[in-house]
Amino acid sequence: MSVSEPDPTESRRGWLSHQLSEFLAVVSSYPNEAAAIERGVDRLAEAVEAEVAAVMFDGQLAASVGFRPGQEPQDELAAIAIGTSHVSVTGVGDAFALVIGMDGDEGDVRVVLLRVGAPFSQEEGILLRGMARVLVLTVRLLRLLELERISRRSLQERQELLERLFRIQRSISHRAPIAEVLSAITDGASSLLDAEVVSLRILDEDDPGYLRIAASVGIDDDTLASIFRRPIGEGVGGRAVSEGRLVVADEYEKTENALPAFVTSGLQTAMAAPVYRDGKVAGSLLVASYDRRRTYTPSEHDMLLAFAEHTSLALNDSSAIEAINRAYTDAMHRATHDQLTGLPNRALVLDRLGHALARRRPADDQQLCVLFVDLDRFKAINDSLGHSVGDEVLSLVANRLRAAVRPADTVARLSGDEFVVVCEDITTAEAMRVADRVEASIAEPISLFGRENVLTASVGLAMAQAHDVRPEDILRDADVAMYRAKERGGARIEVFDEGIRSQMLARIEMEHALRRALSSDELRLHYQPVVAADSGKLVALEALVRWQHPEDGLLPPDVFVPVAEQSGLIVPLGHWVIEEACRQVAAWRALGPDSPFAEVRVDINLSGRQFADTGLLATICNAIRRHGLPGHAVGFEITESVLMDDGDSTVAVLRGLKELGVHLAIDDFGTGYSSLSYLESFPVDTVKIDRSFVQRMSSSGANDVIISAVVSLARALGHDVIAEGVETAEQLEQVRSLGCQYVQGYYFGRPVPARDLSVERFAVSA
Ligand code: C2E
Ligand code: CA
Ligand code: CA
Repeated sequence: MSVSEPDPTESRRGWLSHQLSEFLAVVSSYPNEAAAIERGVDRLAEAVEAEVAAVMFDGQLAASVGFRPGQEPQDELAAIAIGTSHVSVTGVGDAFALVIGMDGDEGDVRVVLLRVGAPFSQEEGILLRGMARVLVLTVRLLRLLELERISRRSLQERQELLERLFRIQRSISHRAPIAEVLSAITDGASSLLDAEVVSLRILDEDDPGYLRIAASVGIDDDTLASIFRRPIGEGVGGRAVSEGRLVVADEYEKTENALPAFVTSGLQTAMAAPVYRDGKVAGSLLVASYDRRRTYTPSEHDMLLAFAEHTSLALNDSSAIEAINRAYTDAMHRATHDQLTGLPNRALVLDRLGHALARRRPADDQQLCVLFVDLDRFKAINDSLGHSVGDEVLSLVANRLRAAVRPADTVARLSGDEFVVVCEDITTAEAMRVADRVEASIAEPISLFGRENVLTASVGLAMAQAHDVRPEDILRDADVAMYRAKERGGARIEVFDEGIRSQMLARIEMEHALRRALSSDELRLHYQPVVAADSGKLVALEALVRWQHPEDGLLPPDVFVPVAEQSGLIVPLGHWVIEEACRQVAAWRALGPDSPFAEVRVDINLSGRQFADTGLLATICNAIRRHGLPGHAVGFEITESVLMDDGDSTVAVLRGLKELGVHLAIDDFGTGYSSLSYLESFPVDTVKIDRSFVQRMSSSGANDVIISAVVSLARALGHDVIAEGVETAEQLEQVRSLGCQYVQGYYFGRPVPARDLSVERFAVSA
């Protein structure tokens, strides 16, 4: 449609609203009821050039124009008010009649118009109905003011109310977009009635047994999604429609047919008034509060009714209804879909799961399945390439997921890089195949900045269990299975079973216990010597953490360090280790020059997670300073995967550590990617060859080749080499002959508490 071309329906609508707002201004300017009615009737007749206009309350003529005073044919008018459209009236002759009837607190109100020349058009009908409502509203307000003997407050309220109503009128007459009109209504009701929650519902055009929310204030997306479309009669707003009257609930929770989602969200009080369209109930306007002490006074009842009337005016226009439907569809979409990918969001997927669970037939091998899909290392993409690239990747993944599943399946995005697939009527075997397709589709290379990247995902699969009644249950199961897939290194599918659940619970318990262990001093450090292979001299002691568990005894780190890493507890745990190791090495070095510990270094293990803690460097620096240590009295061991994970920031920390003069080692070398390039690019002093190599060393010499290659490369780059896990004299001899300068292992001593260390000179020659 072009803008310059005037649209006839639009200009008529403008005329209509203009008339209405003028009318409101006129009738509401009168201080008493009789004058307002009289002037109002006058204007009614003028608006449509009718010969006669009359208003009747409960069959009694209240005011009229078109007759000589005292000669109004009251009985005839009363008869007309009950029906007929073409009449003959004393003093008027043959005329067309239009009758508007309204039921309200004023009793039965009827407005009769007679016109001789032409029948009333539909539009005139709309206008007159609107005017009649304004008139009744004004009468209602004036009566109210009289009843309350016009207190200052009610005068003020009246002023405010009128202003609000004018604003609505103005937005209607200025042909503001419907969204603006609706928000003038909901915002007006919200501020005037001091309501945190406002909702306007209208009948669903496709199914008039239902109401849909056309506009709302103060309802969160999750709640909105579950109450968006409810049968008539549900909730206070629904009852205002089915009962066709003002419904007030002082205790929402206890009210008849309360909406569960509103109860859950803590709504305390509510009231709703019906909204009309063409004289029939077409919806309702609801205000509500989370405040238990809130009650609604009679004058507030009336204000809501007034707002509902005005909403009715806005609705008496078919293009407004169309616009509301569009606004509804948009709002519905926004509340139930993720903006970025257009996929259903958590609220919608929970809703669909709820329906699917309800539809389930018990003895059936066709089941309901949920896949929980979480991208691996997505954070790295976001951090290194920026959020807009991250967003693009997520959209791409969304498309791939949609393509990978069956058309009837639901793909949703829960948050960040978490997706969910819901499949109904599926066997476990089929579900597995869907999961495989999902994995494969994500693993298709993605080209970013001319570089091929391969994404992987951790997928958790859960089939609905017999006892799953709530959608959250099955979603949680799939989430737990996904977590397991993550734990096992990602890029894999895990199927939920009870075993996973109990392990999950055990881990949560362990986490709690570990927290307690940290605060109640249950951690210990044991030390294991690192020895010079040629002289047998002690060079360092590796600090290895233990947990003195009050019931289970001394626990090795394999049991609790992974839990600490997953939960983030590794950060405070690591702080403790650093502090305690520094304290201990300072104590040793204080023993004097004759002690075998005089020059000893303590080597501390660092987890990858600790590098994510921006305070790591400061923690180390403080500990070293506080204990008056030279940098070279402390060393740190980091595994290769830490270097892999987040190159740049890790290198920054390592450089910082190097500046402190501390010793740095790559731990477990050979078990990870074993990329020798790391040896060159990271500022490390030493490479620790993993004990698995040492222990697989045989007389055949297969592993010797690897060890000797690593040793010669490391040494060529200026690094020292420590062989770990040396248990026998034979192994010692082998690694020494291959060129390892340092050795560590049970052959020299197991990790023990500091006081149990005995270090004279270690035997290094057979
Ligand atoms: P790691 O850094 O590789 O530590 C060496 C592990 O090998 C220690 O196990 C040690 O007891 C064991 N070991 C030493 N010599 C021999 C040997 O001759 N034969 C055999 N079979 N094993 C030997 P532990 O103390 O159970 O520690 C296991 C892992 O826990 C460590 O592996 C390290 O990755 C981690 N860890 C220990 N303490 C800490 C800590 O304070 N912080 C962090 N982040 N991780 C720690
Ligand atoms: Ca280590
Ligand atoms: Ca190691």
